[in-house]
Amino acid sequence: MFDYNLENAAWILSLFCLLYCLVVNRRQYRMAKCIKNNLMNQHMVFILSVICLNITSASSVVGTILTSYASARVALWQFLFHTAYYLFHITMSFLLALYFLDITGASVGKKDNFYILFSIPYLLIVLLILFNPFSKVCFYLDSSYVYHRGRWMLVLYACGMFYLLMCFAVFFRHIRAISRTDRMEVGTMLFLSVLGVLLQAFFPQMKVELFAEALTILGIMVMLEERSGHVDALTGVLNRLALVEFSRRVIESGKQSRLLLVKLINLDQFAKLFAGREIDNLILLVSEWLSTVADGYDLFHYRDRDFAILLPNDRGEAAETLANAILQRFGEDWKTGPVNFRLEAEIWVARIPEDVATLNDLDELLAVRFRDLNRGTRRVEFHEVSAFQRNRHMAQALRDAVAHHKLQVWYQPIWSVEENRTIAAEALLRIDDEEFRGISPEVYIPVAEQSGVIREIGLFVFEAVCRFVRDSGVRKMGLCYINVNLSVYQFLHDDLTERFESIRTQYGIPRETINLEITESASSQTPVVKTGLDTLRITGYHFSLDDFGTGYSNFAQLLRTEYKNVKIDKSLLWDADNNEHTARMLDNMIRVIRSLGCNVVQEGVETPAQLERSVNSGANLIQGYYFSRPLPEKDFLDYLLRADKESSD
Ligand code: C2E
Ligand code: MG
Ligand code: MG
Repeated sequence: MFDYNLENAAWILSLFCLLYCLVVNRRQYRMAKCIKNNLMNQHMVFILSVICLNITSASSVVGTILTSYASARVALWQFLFHTAYYLFHITMSFLLALYFLDITGASVGKKDNFYILFSIPYLLIVLLILFNPFSKVCFYLDSSYVYHRGRWMLVLYACGMFYLLMCFAVFFRHIRAISRTDRMEVGTMLFLSVLGVLLQAFFPQMKVELFAEALTILGIMVMLEERSGHVDALTGVLNRLALVEFSRRVIESGKQSRLLLVKLINLDQFAKLFAGREIDNLILLVSEWLSTVADGYDLFHYRDRDFAILLPNDRGEAAETLANAILQRFGEDWKTGPVNFRLEAEIWVARIPEDVATLNDLDELLAVRFRDLNRGTRRVEFHEVSAFQRNRHMAQALRDAVAHHKLQVWYQPIWSVEENRTIAAEALLRIDDEEFRGISPEVYIPVAEQSGVIREIGLFVFEAVCRFVRDSGVRKMGLCYINVNLSVYQFLHDDLTERFESIRTQYGIPRETINLEITESASSQTPVVKTGLDTLRITGYHFSLDDFGTGYSNFAQLLRTEYKNVKIDKSLLWDADNNEHTARMLDNMIRVIRSLGCNVVQEGVETPAQLERSVNSGANLIQGYYFSRPLPEKDFLDYLLRADKESSD
């Protein structure tokens, strides 16, 4: 009575899928009021497909059983089940096409007219099936109640095929909207489905079609629907991975869209006062409120204190309304348990594709921390984040400059007061490229640091200096060492010392000819930097402390660490010109550092008066435009020769 054929297997498979969706993935299937929103929701379309597949395979199995009882008594039921089979089967292929429109982002921005046109073949076939009892063109039961295909049966198949081919077309047209890992699998599943339909259309006795479709649905469920990896563990909303996947589709759709970021800027202050649970509850509260106000748009919790709402096909109106609602809410307290929190948030609205045109842009945007802790809740205009855009552009330009060998090293002399001659030089990076003309390393070095390009740049400068020391004969001209600036970011790569050593030995120059300059900063207190510094020091390198008197540098640091030279920041010297207090402080500072046994290099000496002040205070090394600006290799050698000649004359 019950054949264990492929159709039964299809039913069992589809039942499994349905149960799995309803029990495990149930959060994803929330019906929206508007029909179009449901059609544009991949998960809703998927669950509807699974339901259709269940009805289709159930009808098929029951229909087959009834066939063995073919008689007048069951004829009506036979007819009904066959009708249900075709009706829901064609609905499935229609839904599958919609599903592909959704997962490729092709549905973003589609108008109602599109959906009407898209549904016409489907609706015509539905009418054909509904009128089949009268027309008998799809199928009929003969006088012995045996089932036969009608003349128009192939039209049904053609329609099913039309929607399947549509899936193919959408899939290949928007393939970039699907992540690389999913492409192969999704393509295979689709192919399997088409194969099933073709086989059954021409060899009806094979009955493989439903099984192939059930396999497709199972495959899609496992690959695209089972997205526990897309859910944030704390809030249950979507996470960063999902944000990247969804943004990929929206970007690929080419439609104007918006990405709204909500950054909780003062949460850390509360985190210091309250236990973790209180803060988690607070984040949950914000997340729940945001998902209500986002009203149908996807909410993402992409980093500990940061949320995002993706608004596909929005030219700014919806984002504006949403941003205002959020701003207003953050003007009020958030209450968890007995505590009232006044949270502050920055709201950013980024335009797709103007501000975010690629996933790379998205990555960089998400990496930006909030801009200003002190300004409280506010809407951050994107042009305020223009530094971010400029940096993004600059990081790429830096990579290009490295790749196209446009980096150069220039040298600025360092003059010894005691010896009355140039005894050292500082190596300074220059980029021979139109794009960087007139831009100071002070601007692009931080970008190089944040984007990681500093690693290549640092190694390039180090190697260029080693080559210069070996080839130019500067040591014979009395130059004792060359200062090379070292960024603390370079310590993040733990092979720094080995790389330096291998380059240095390759050029066969002694370590004393290189002096490493490092600027003290908050990050230089971290263990990784400390270890890096110690390793280089133990290996035999000497260090100068750069830009002393600014930022994080302090005397305690000087006492703790061995610096051969301390370079006083030029801003102090320049300020001393007009400020008696600074002048006195500078004077005393230099004395204290000298008394600790360090050399003092005064940077930024431009005038005879500045030179005199520095020398009188006890600075024993001088660097500045008074002697020379940074010079290209050849000009620097000329400078040394000239100075040598002048002193011997
Ligand atoms: P820094 O290490 O403090 O270098 C000294 C800066 O002061 C240089 O600017 C130099 O041209 C400038 N300077 C020296 N004397 C005078 C003067 O009398 N008047 C004026 N107005 N400026 C003077 P530059 O070359 O623009 O470099 C700026 C900063 O960029 C450097 O400051 C250093 O922090 C960074 N930098 C430059 N090259 C490299 C490099 O190869 N690696 C790393 N990590 N940083 C570098
Ligand atoms: Mg320096
Ligand atoms: Mg400096």
